[in-house]
Amino acid sequence: MDDSPTTVQVALRIRPLVETEIMRGCQLCLQTVPGEPQVQVLGTENVFTYNYVFGPDESQVEFYSRSVKNLLSCLFKGYNVTILAYGQTGSGKTFSMGTTYTADDNMGIIPRAVNDIFKRTEELEDWDFKITVSFIELYKEQLFDLLASNKCAVDIREDGRGIHIPGLTEVPVTCQEDTIKCLIQGSASRATGATAMNAQSSRSHAIFTINIHQQKKDAPNTSMTAKFHLVDLAGSERSKKTKATGERFKEGVNINRGLLALGNVISALGKESTQKNYISYRDSKLTRLLQDSLGGNSVTLMIACVSPADYNLEETLSTLRYADRAK
Ligand code: ADP
Ligand code: MG
Repeated sequence: MDDSPTTVQVALRIRPLVETEIMRGCQLCLQTVPGEPQVQVLGTENVFTYNYVFGPDESQVEFYSRSVKNLLSCLFKGYNVTILAYGQTGSGKTFSMGTTYTADDNMGIIPRAVNDIFKRTEELEDWDFKITVSFIELYKEQLFDLLASNKCAVDIREDGRGIHIPGLTEVPVTCQEDTIKCLIQGSASRATGATAMNAQSSRSHAIFTINIHQQKKDAPNTSMTAKFHLVDLAGSERSKKTKATGERFKEGVNINRGLLALGNVISALGKESTQKNYISYRDSKLTRLLQDSLGGNSVTLMIACVSPADYNLEETLSTLRYADRAK
């Protein structure tokens, strides 16, 4: 489509120092550039530019309003929209996405977007809407249905019409409350594993999907379907820092496969159109699952989450570079 918005956008989000970092005497290693979507690595000449840069003082509502809210209109034009949070464990992915629901000012993207989506369906009086949600966890290259009454494994099938996950629970929702219930239920069954870095560390990708089907009331043949994927990616840290061994190391290896494939796909999308034929979605379950929602008739926002603390500098630089390839 000619009026398609920029396919891949990158927002850098720098969280504030957390209490334990302040107590340890951590220093800041990043500085935003006033008036520019740029960040400087302190003590170096390194400056990175993205579509947006959000510093530690920017609230959830500012972050959402500037980087996410305008993408919702794409959904109602029939574009698939994917928002991914990338970064090391503890960098603010779950906080930013709102994968774990909180009802206060710290509410993240998912509940805010859900709210605005239902508002929009009420305003679009000429259309009928059918909305469903699903919630998948991707752990060690296996998919799990987080909304099934007993969390169970599912798998991807492909046919001429695209990507399907047979048996996946798709819950019809008609209001914000229904949708948030699914979010809370799914988050509760998401697997976590304790690591040396963070007991709450998540070793899995969590993919919350809102399917919007809209049909024009006076024109039964006019309908559109869009998928809205909200992805809280697994921690991007390399296994060394988490002292991973045995089973956990295997998790790390598989997780890196997904993040690596995602990085390759997203960076290929930013290149000249002739090179787009070579995009290899098949290298991981994550990219296969998202293949009809990355590139083509879709819009992607990658949120690169970083800690501002000096002791995380190495992982922060790796995230800044990963996100730099994505623009
Ligand atoms: P991740 O999901 O990447 O492991 P979290 O989202 O759990 O990281 O964030 C780690 C900690 O930092 C949490 O205590 C969270 O509340 C806090 N935090 C993250 N981002 C922000 C922010 N922008 N403002 C305030 N606190 C934040
Ligand atoms: Mg998290």
